[in-house]
Amino acid sequence: MNAESKRSFDVAVIGGGPAGMGAATVAAECGLSVVLLDDNPGLGGQIWRGESGSSKHTQASHWFDRVGRSSVEWILEARVFQVGKGHLSAESPDTVHQIAYSHLILATGARERFLPFPGWTLPNVLGAGALHSLIKSGLPVEGKRIVIAGTGPLLLAVAAYAREKGAQVACIAEQTTGAKFACFGLSVLLVPEELEEVWQLAWQLQAVPHWKNCWPVAALGKERLEAVRLSHHGRIREIASDYLACGFHLVPSLELAQFIGCAIQDGYVAVDENQQTCIPGVYCAGEPTGIGGFELALVEGQIAGFAAANRKDLARKLWRRRDAGLRHVRALRRAFELRDELRNMPQEDTLVCRCEDVPFGLLRAHQSWQSAKLHSRCGMGPCQGRVCGAAAEFLFGWSNSSVRPPLFPVRCSSLAEMPVETIPEIHEGGSK
Ligand SMILES: Cc1cc2nc3c(=O)[nH]c(=O)nc-3n(C[C@H](O)[C@H](O)[C@H](O)COP(=O)(O)OP(=O)(O)OC[C@H]3O[C@@H](n4cnc5c(N)ncnc54)[C@H](O)[C@@H]3O)c2cc1C
Repeated sequence: MNAESKRSFDVAVIGGGPAGMGAATVAAECGLSVVLLDDNPGLGGQIWRGESGSSKHTQASHWFDRVGRSSVEWILEARVFQVGKGHLSAESPDTVHQIAYSHLILATGARERFLPFPGWTLPNVLGAGALHSLIKSGLPVEGKRIVIAGTGPLLLAVAAYAREKGAQVACIAEQTTGAKFACFGLSVLLVPEELEEVWQLAWQLQAVPHWKNCWPVAALGKERLEAVRLSHHGRIREIASDYLACGFHLVPSLELAQFIGCAIQDGYVAVDENQQTCIPGVYCAGEPTGIGGFELALVEGQIAGFAAANRKDLARKLWRRRDAGLRHVRALRRAFELRDELRNMPQEDTLVCRCEDVPFGLLRAHQSWQSAKLHSRCGMGPCQGRVCGAAAEFLFGWSNSSVRPPLFPVRCSSLAEMPVETIPEIHEGGSK
């Protein structure tokens, strides 16, 4: 392992999805030196992963081309595990990057929310986005029967993509009510840029049953998934299936923001009109400030990039588009709010923390995430609570705001290479 010498940039952007690409590109175009770090092997984030300048997605193509022509220096397969005042450390497979910055833009995106139910740990039960990524990377699904369950528009995108690749989508089980879904549909139809995509999805999915008030009760099978038991309008249905792709909307990735002490409001990073957090010089864009899709993430990223470059005049020109996107965030929240009945999905022996094998029944005895962690090791495995923490928050109402370094499991040698002056003091809720 070799530690790269400390390098300095005007702006460090963490996250190479639409928000990070937008932020880094415009800041560099304004003349700043910019580094963009992402833990994936390519830029593009969740939605444009595996795409490039030749993508058929016009927006992706535009931004890959633009970032490629800019002076942005991007470092891939580099996970930022530590951020201090004006300094960050990121681990790559064979090195540790020490980076000094004047402005920091957090564009760390979101991940899927999983909720536990009997059988959810069986092979071939996957996250909806995870199945999407696997198909994109070559998993053959032709002729396979797939049930897609949970909540949110991602289910539709995954269903359409799986069908395009030859899968037989048995049904989409959406937990929200028909009325809430219809209101969401109307709000989308009011956005002209979304119309084409909506009609395309509707056309692709016209033959797929789309059940509302429907959620998984159990995944059944011996060695792997064989069938899915669903509750649909209070009736139980059983559907034979090769895969169950399940996701209960998205949860923002807040660890880095919490770690450096950014204010969190209603579960998201609080920002001002220029995407600046409560910490001067630290901006946040994209899903950590509200789940609103890639168009909003792109606009927020550009606002943050312009603001970091002190071009608030250019940032201001994008406010109106950002504010329209924020209406979409509110519509999404209302439409796909999780219903109370989902808290009854797990049974006493259903694992909630699959890293440390902690069942629901054991967790119920505790009053807080902290207590559950200390007594059961819940959230202390390799995922560090990223899966079970969000589930426990919904199931028990526990808040999980305490973050400690290192933010991700890292090599001991990477920790040893951190400059001593950058190691933060720890306090409950983040670093000082
Ligand atoms: C699993 C999944 C699948 C999705 N699929 C679709 C889809 O098919 N269609 C659609 O319209 N929308 C999809 N979405 C939603 C879409 O991804 C977002 O609307 C959009 O990508 C948001 O852009 P962003 O830049 O905010 O975040 P993201 O695109 O999530 O980008 C954030 C990036 O930051 C990186 N990152 C996070 N923390 C660190 C760290 N510590 N160090 C280094 N890098 C870090 C992440 O790996 C990621 O690459 C999906 C979301 C998820 C979670």
